[in-house]
Amino acid sequence: MIDTVLLNKFLGSQMPAALEMLRKMVGINSFTSNREGINQLGRLTAECFAPLGFTARFVPSVNGEWGNHLVMTRTGRSSKSIALVSHLDTVFPPEEELANAFHWQVAGDRAFGPGTLDIKGGTVMMWLVLMALRAHAPKTFEEITWKLFWNSSEECLSPDFEDVCRPHLSGSTLALLVFEAENTAGSDHLMVAARKGRFTWKVTVTGRGAHAGGNLKQGANALIQLARTLQQIDVMTDFSKDLTFNVGKMWGGTVLNRVPHLAVAEGEFRAFSPAICEEAKARLLALSGPGEVRSQNDGYRCEVAVEITSESRPWPRNPGTEKLLTLWREAGARLGASVLGEQRGGLSDGNSFWDAVPTLDGLGPSGDNDHCSERSLDGSKLPEFVEISSFIPKAALNTVSILNLLA
Ligand SMILES: [Zn+2]
Repeated sequence: MIDTVLLNKFLGSQMPAALEMLRKMVGINSFTSNREGINQLGRLTAECFAPLGFTARFVPSVNGEWGNHLVMTRTGRSSKSIALVSHLDTVFPPEEELANAFHWQVAGDRAFGPGTLDIKGGTVMMWLVLMALRAHAPKTFEEITWKLFWNSSEECLSPDFEDVCRPHLSGSTLALLVFEAENTAGSDHLMVAARKGRFTWKVTVTGRGAHAGGNLKQGANALIQLARTLQQIDVMTDFSKDLTFNVGKMWGGTVLNRVPHLAVAEGEFRAFSPAICEEAKARLLALSGPGEVRSQNDGYRCEVAVEITSESRPWPRNPGTEKLLTLWREAGARLGASVLGEQRGGLSDGNSFWDAVPTLDGLGPSGDNDHCSERSLDGSKLPEFVEISSFIPKAALNTVSILNLLA
């Protein structure tokens, strides 16, 4: 059994190098559509993991405007493998970082900067855990085949990352661990054990245009129909089922003296349960067809067309994930840390893999304000930061848990 005092001491000795690595990563803008920045960060990341014996492969994204995904492998003596997943991109355009003077800045226990929490801090956590495993469980480290995956475009739900990773996963892949940030509740570590699926939709209403002054009765107002349809969608939200619908945007009409002949809205819905997602999808699609808004003169009806524009399937609670969660909880008990599972509304790469390999998420450090770059003078608005003191205990927890999994 690993000596946890020595483990903590070792991790402490690695923190200066870990923070320097994080500082360099945060210094490279890697907004999803900054292709060059993503590729530069990919190369730096590959350099960071190479001394641990990993070889890198860069896989072009199907979207030519996005950077390369990064796959790093270290082949072990056995066929058993563990997959670790992070991403390269952030949500901050370079101009926004400049405008808000949002860059690497340490204040007390907080390291501010783009991606410190989501998810460059997670990448550094991966490095710490692998370093600890190599130093404190060298036999195990050498035995396992380690597969590291970085999505170049996670924040835009890249459709092809799953295809990049799947061929590397098999029945001998014991776990897929996602290094998104951890939430905490008091002193409890909250590991992510489920995430909602997300379905985006589009409603297109075609009506009949007419002169608003001379011939209003001839018109079938597409905007009015759209407003009614959207109200029907809005009430499909059912918190008792964790099912939420959001109308995200709408547009329609042209000039004020025309009855609008076209109106469009887009939105999304989310739920944890695959069955509830399917039922919601069916109800949504059933709104297609003749609308209730008609022209006054001859009853010409608006036509409603609903389509599902993207599907990110849910990651429900499942036995594979629960088994991993139990291991993390047991490791926590050994380390004097309370570990709980949580279900999150937001997506991660975990959604794509839980049904192929036991998956656990939230292995990253903790912090706050991810996806925010602004700071107000009174401190009521702070940008994204990672808590420096969260690295060592979480790295210890992840290390001990992985060893429990392999024991
Ligand atoms: Zn993320």
